[in-house]
Amino acid sequence: MPLDLSGLVICVTGAGRGIGEATRLKLTSLGASVVATDISFPNSLGDTDQSGLELEHDVTSPESWACVRQEIENRFGRLDALVNNAGIPLTGNLEGIALADWRRVQAVNVDGVLLGMQALLPLLRNGKARPGGASVVNISSVGGLRGVAFNAAYATSKGAVKLLTKSAALEFAYLGYPIRVNSVHPGGVETPLMDEIHDRLAELGKSSNPAKHSVNGYALGRLGKPNEIAEAIAFLCSSSSSLMTGAELVVDGARGVSSAITMS
Ligand code: NAD
Repeated sequence: MPLDLSGLVICVTGAGRGIGEATRLKLTSLGASVVATDISFPNSLGDTDQSGLELEHDVTSPESWACVRQEIENRFGRLDALVNNAGIPLTGNLEGIALADWRRVQAVNVDGVLLGMQALLPLLRNGKARPGGASVVNISSVGGLRGVAFNAAYATSKGAVKLLTKSAALEFAYLGYPIRVNSVHPGGVETPLMDEIHDRLAELGKSSNPAKHSVNGYALGRLGKPNEIAEAIAFLCSSSSSLMTGAELVVDGARGVSSAITMS
């Protein structure tokens, strides 16, 4: 039976392309009203159609989050789920990482998740009464579980997202907030971000297969499609996952090697 998200209001960050875009489409197709945000959306606030909103939004900015909150409050008065998906990579030798670049990755990938939960908590606490309550889904990575060669800043940020998620889950439960918090850990997924990492590895001479992404170590022998991650996100947004909080959901085609980016 397909998930039913009808009547739910769900905010998805980084919804302009890749996994975020696929998630927006999936949640909308399941009946949710989606507030889609992205730094790349045009500088205007407005309706996309009867069911959703599209907002220009920088997840590193508390002021920008305050605008998103205001728009959701004005339009819907509540929020049932938040998908903290926006993220950026940084690929290169560890010894060459510039501090400003390191900080930018942590700002988008980690601060963005914290700021999102802080800004939208009051609306999530007013979410529609349903089994499991409201849901926060933070997009980490298998890199946040295992580390990734030549991607130290990125993997560090994704490890932080994992523990930020678990800490929030425990704290909200302790405080009696009806909000579950879980992380999703994709392996390699066919998106522009993955292309960027691959191209940079090839530039560094760390990929012996410059023509395409390596699928070495993936039991299923292929990368994921954005829609396959969106399916897992939709499950965590729904009441079907009502007993899950503080969980790390790995969606990676059983990648059995120690680094999330192979160099072969
Ligand atoms: P993507 O680069 O295709 O899309 C990311 C989106 O985030 C873009 O639309 C971009 O404009 C937006 N964004 C970037 N900075 C932003 C900011 N400051 N504020 C708001 N929006 C911003 O990436 P993707 O592959 O779809 O990745 C989505 C999430 O999944 C990321 O958190 C990424 O780390 C994670 N992830 C991706 C993969 C993969 O293989 N693609 C694997 C594991 C985890």
